[in-house]
Formats: sequence, structure tokens, C-alpha cells
Amino acid sequence: MRDSDLTKLLGWPGYRVYRHEINERAKKLKLWIRRKRGNRKWLCSGCGRKLEAAHDISEREVRDLPCLEFRTTVVVEVYRVCCPDCGIKIEKVP
Ligand SMILES: [Zn+2]
Repeated sequence: MRDSDLTKLLGWPGYRVYRHEINERAKKLKLWIRRKRGNRKWLCSGCGRKLEAAHDISEREVRDLPCLEFRTTVVVEVYRVCCPDCGIKIEKVP
């Protein structure tokens, strides 16, 4: 399976799959996703304010999403923003 097919399968708007691992025997699928180029607006998870710049970047795992017959783990790149009202906050992720 190609990353572009997995991107469609997952269907997270604004994100694409850039790496994946399939364990056929254990029926496990692991996907790494990041923002598509051009998706460069960050929303503060505290107040929803739109921010032009990100503070830093980390990874967050979302486990056990149903995807085909696989138990799927999604590793998503999550940015932190520096909000004038809330300070350092995780961005809002769909
Ligand atoms: Zn805020």
C-alpha cells in the first residue's frame, strides 16, 4: 500500500501519511502523519485564536483507530503555539 492511498483511507483533512508500518500477522498498522504543505495556520487549543507561527513540534500517538481490519496507531506531528492569551499551548488538532 502506498502512503498516498493511506492518506485517502485515513481521511484527515489537511494531513498526509509520510511513513507507515504494517504487521500483517498481528494485524497492526502504524501511520505517521504530518500537515500538508500550505496547511500553515495554527489554532490555539485554549482559545481558538489563529496564529501565524508555531513554537515547537512534538509527536503524539493516537491509538486503536479502526482502519480496514487493522488495529491502527497514528503518530501525528503536533505543534505547540505561543498564544498571547494562553501562553505555550498545544495546537488544536482535528
Ligand atoms: Zn490561546
